[in-house]
Amino acid sequence: MRPTDKNRELALLERFTETPKRFGAYRIALGFPNSYEIGMSNLGFQWVYRLLNRVPDLVCERFFFEDGEPAVTFETGAPLSEFGLLAWSLSWEMDVVNILKTLRAARVPERRDARDDRHPVLLVGGDIARMNPAALTPFVDIFALGDGERLVPRIAELVQSGFSREDFLSAAARIPGFFVPAIHGPRAEAAESGKVVIQQPMSRRDITPFFEVPHTTALTPRTELAEKLLIEISRGCTEMCRFCWAAYAMAPIKQYPASSILKIERDARPLTDRVGLIATAVCDHPEIETILAGLSELEFHIALSSIKIDAIEAPILEILARQGERALAIAPEAGNERLRRHINKKVSDAMLREKARLVFAHGFTRLKLYLQVGLPTETDQDVRDIVSTVADLREIAIAEGRAAGRVAQLVPSVNAFIPKPHTPYEDESLASEESLKEKLAFLQHEFEGMGNVAFRGMSVGEAVWEAYLAKMDETGADILEQAASGVPVRRLLKEHRERIAAVVRPESVNPAAAAAPAPWAFISKR
Ligand code: SF4
Repeated sequence: MRPTDKNRELALLERFTETPKRFGAYRIALGFPNSYEIGMSNLGFQWVYRLLNRVPDLVCERFFFEDGEPAVTFETGAPLSEFGLLAWSLSWEMDVVNILKTLRAARVPERRDARDDRHPVLLVGGDIARMNPAALTPFVDIFALGDGERLVPRIAELVQSGFSREDFLSAAARIPGFFVPAIHGPRAEAAESGKVVIQQPMSRRDITPFFEVPHTTALTPRTELAEKLLIEISRGCTEMCRFCWAAYAMAPIKQYPASSILKIERDARPLTDRVGLIATAVCDHPEIETILAGLSELEFHIALSSIKIDAIEAPILEILARQGERALAIAPEAGNERLRRHINKKVSDAMLREKARLVFAHGFTRLKLYLQVGLPTETDQDVRDIVSTVADLREIAIAEGRAAGRVAQLVPSVNAFIPKPHTPYEDESLASEESLKEKLAFLQHEFEGMGNVAFRGMSVGEAVWEAYLAKMDETGADILEQAASGVPVRRLLKEHRERIAAVVRPESVNPAAAAAPAPWAFISKR
């Protein structure tokens, strides 16, 4: 067995903050259901890889998915079918189909009832497992619901048990946080109290100063975030915007001490000078200025994925601007205060203007604005207000740009609102395709005529598919299989229009079905 030539080349470029071991009595394959470049940009995947390799006698190898590539591990080129346990970290609905494609490439039967002792046990963890695992229940043996820190030791115990498939599943079903459809039933009817409890710290007291802050295990130039040391500075968000899955799933918020974060950064500094701070709301961290100042002292180039509008302050912008950062992303979400209040986004128009002025005054030349159409209660006026808000900010950019001699570009990036499980909007419908198309076309037309504005709109087909994957249940297994066999999503949306509408807009098809318990109702936090 040898890694593929491509993987060997990639492996030669990797540098580790903690070197994984290569030999041990037990092996596990941990997959990311997308390319190496995307998988290695995912902190959750990188962290679980590290945690598994720390278990004595257990070796964890990685695998990724790319169409047409062999289903083998990255490190040794071992066929996936040879492993006793295949685990995936699944953090995006759109990657669900890639799990089935991987099984096809590995010649492992996709349906769990077609597998026996000759085949690997399949386990899926990550955000999607705890959001709504129902779509994958016909295929996956075990779902791990919760944080890697809590669940990895239990997975390791199972792997080291030497159990047959049947005993393995029975043992997993007795572990808190593990959902085993073959034993618990597709809606966990047979689980204790009919629910599966997510395993995660439920109090800030669980985060001691000795808590190890998750960070990148392998640095590589070949990711979307080349050579960047990713480090999680907090988990959860206090804002609780009503559409935001992460805020509700991760609550209560956990913020890691600046001293622990900076220690990791100091240790990793000889390996890289690029750092990416990961959090649902980066600048909400009470010690953010200490963290940024410490990183700046260590001469790190700091990247923030996006910044909460109310947290924008001069000292933060100064640090970012001093190291040459010129682009920033913020999320007003809606074009006026009424709709922002409705979705619980606490940003007034005046605050938005004031913070944008501060950003442009610090020399930033690109401001990305995350916005949504199709939000609950949205009116045509709300959509028109997106245009006037951007026009307003553009005026500010022009006024501030005059002094600097360069006008900043505004990038309104408009997505369709997609209702997510476990949020107050989980029962909301996706807006109709026609209205989404109309609104996005209107915005595109309006922004085309505005200088220094570059509009980005989401594909409506993609929005419908994502909304379907987010809320579907096991009855859509045949649709996923068709997608895995290569039927284009466009065709699936057309051929299964009614069935997909019953999930994304239930009241439009069958009002009685809309009142049924959600497929994810058995997932509980306590
Ligand atoms: S501010 Fe951002 S991270 Fe926080 S709840 Fe709102 S959308 Fe989620």
